Amino acid sequence: MALMTGEQYIESMRKMNLQVYMFGKKVENVVDNPILRPSLNSVRATYDYAQDPQYEDLMTVTLEDGTKINRFLNIHRNTTDLMNKVKMQRMLGQKTAACFQRCVGMDACNAEYSTTYEIDQKYGTKYHENFKNFLNYCRENDFTIDGAMTDPKGDRGLAPHLQADPDLYLHVVERREDGIVVCGAKAHQTGIINSQEVIVMPTIAMGPDDKDYAVSFAVPTDTEGILMIIGRQSCDTRKTENTTLDVGNAEYGGVEALVIFDHVFVPNDRIFMNGEHEFAGMLVERFAGFHRQSYGGCKVGVGDVLIGATALAAEYNGAEKASHIKDKLIEMMHLNETLYCCGIACSAEGAPTASGGYLINLLLANVCKQNVTRFPYEIARLAEDIAGGIFVTAPSEADLKGEVTGPWVEKYLKGVSGVSTEDRMKVMRLIENLCLGTAAVGYRTESMHGAGSPQAQRIMISRQGNLPMKKELAKKLAGIK
Ligand code: SF4
Ligand code: FE
Repeated sequence: MALMTGEQYIESMRKMNLQVYMFGKKVENVVDNPILRPSLNSVRATYDYAQDPQYEDLMTVTLEDGTKINRFLNIHRNTTDLMNKVKMQRMLGQKTAACFQRCVGMDACNAEYSTTYEIDQKYGTKYHENFKNFLNYCRENDFTIDGAMTDPKGDRGLAPHLQADPDLYLHVVERREDGIVVCGAKAHQTGIINSQEVIVMPTIAMGPDDKDYAVSFAVPTDTEGILMIIGRQSCDTRKTENTTLDVGNAEYGGVEALVIFDHVFVPNDRIFMNGEHEFAGMLVERFAGFHRQSYGGCKVGVGDVLIGATALAAEYNGAEKASHIKDKLIEMMHLNETLYCCGIACSAEGAPTASGGYLINLLLANVCKQNVTRFPYEIARLAEDIAGGIFVTAPSEADLKGEVTGPWVEKYLKGVSGVSTEDRMKVMRLIENLCLGTAAVGYRTESMHGAGSPQAQRIMISRQGNLPMKKELAKKLAGIK
C-alpha cells in the first residue's frame, strides 16, 4: 500500500477498537471527541505533509528497492538521514505547535533495529528478523507506531523484582509455546491513542534478577487486555466549550495516557527481547538517545511559533521598538537555535551500528536534551515578560461576543490601532496555550521529563564525557609527569 492520506489515516483509526477512558467514562468515539481530536490532527499532519510536494523530501524516504515510505518509518542509513529527521521535526513543530507523536515509534524502531541485531549475534535468537517483519508490515500499511518505555516505577529506590507490587514494571507473567503473556503499565504515552501499533521496551538497565522485566515486543493497540486512561491537562475542558479563541490552538494538540497491559498475549513473532537482561540498558540508551535528538527538532519548531507569537504580541501592544524587547526576542532566538545546533550536531556526528543502522552521537544527544530541560523554560519566561499579564487575565471569547460585555472588552483590550482586539486576544491565548495551557504539557514539562529527566542526561554526560582524556590534555600542557 502507498502512503496514506491524512483522511485515510483518520479512517484507519476509526476502525480501531481502542479501550480509552477519560473522566471516569469509556470514550465510545475516540476519533471525534473534542478533547482528543486535536491530538489526532497532529498525527494527521505527518500524513498530510508527506503528500505535499513542498515537503516530500523531508517527509518521505525512498528505499533502495524504490518504495517510498514516510520518514517516521525509516531506519537511518547515514548522517544525512539523521539530520533530515531533525529538520522534519522542526518543520512539523512549526506547523502544529504540538507533539505530533510519531517520533517515539521512529525512535523505538531505530533502537530496536540495532539492538535486536546485537542480541541475535550473541544468542542466535531471531529478534532482528521478527523486528524487520514487523517494520515491513507497518511500512506496507503506513502505520503510526507508539514507542512505550516509561513504567510507573513505584518505589524508585527498588529494582523491578523487589517492588511490593510486581506489576509496577511491565513483565512476563507466563511463557507459552506460542508466545508470552505480560502485565504492567506504561505511563505518559502521548501517541498511543493515535497509533495502530505499540512497541513496548524496558525502562531501565536490568540485572539477572529482573530477567522477566527485560522484555520488548510490538502489538496492535487494540489488543485484548490493553486499556488507556487519558491524563488531565490544564485548561483541557476549554476544548468542549465550542470556542476557538479561548483554546489558543484550536486545530492541534496532544494528550497523554496511562496504558494498562492486563495479561496481554504477545505471539512469538512479535517478540524483540525476552529475558536477555544485559541488552535492556542498550535498548534504553539508544531509544533515549534518539528521542533526546528528536527534541532538538520538535521543541525548536514549537519554540519558533512561541517566538513568533511573542513578537506579534509586542507589535500589537505597541512595544516592538523598545530596545529591551528587541533584545529579549534575540535572546529567545539564540536559545532556540542553540537547541537546533545540538539536534543537528548529534546527527552529523552519528555513526553506524553493527546492524548498519545509524546511531546519533550519544554524548551530544544528551547535551541536546539537557539544554532542552532548560531553554524552553527561559523562552517561555521571556514570552510571558513581553506579552504582559493580559495573556492570563483576558476575558473569554463569550465575553468578547457578549451583548453587554463585548463593547467593553473591545474598547479596553485594544492595543495599537490597525490591529483588532480579537487578533490581540488570539495571540495572547496562543501564548497562554504554550506557556501554561494544554500545550505547556508538551513544550515545558515534557521538555523537562520527556526522553528522561535531567539527571538521566547528566549520568550519560558523565559516562561519555571522557574526563581522563581531558586530564591528560591538561597534564601534558602543564608539564605534569
Ligand atoms: Fe515527536 Fe517531540 Fe512529540 Fe517526542 S515530543 S513524539 S519528539 S513531537
Ligand atoms: Fe516525547
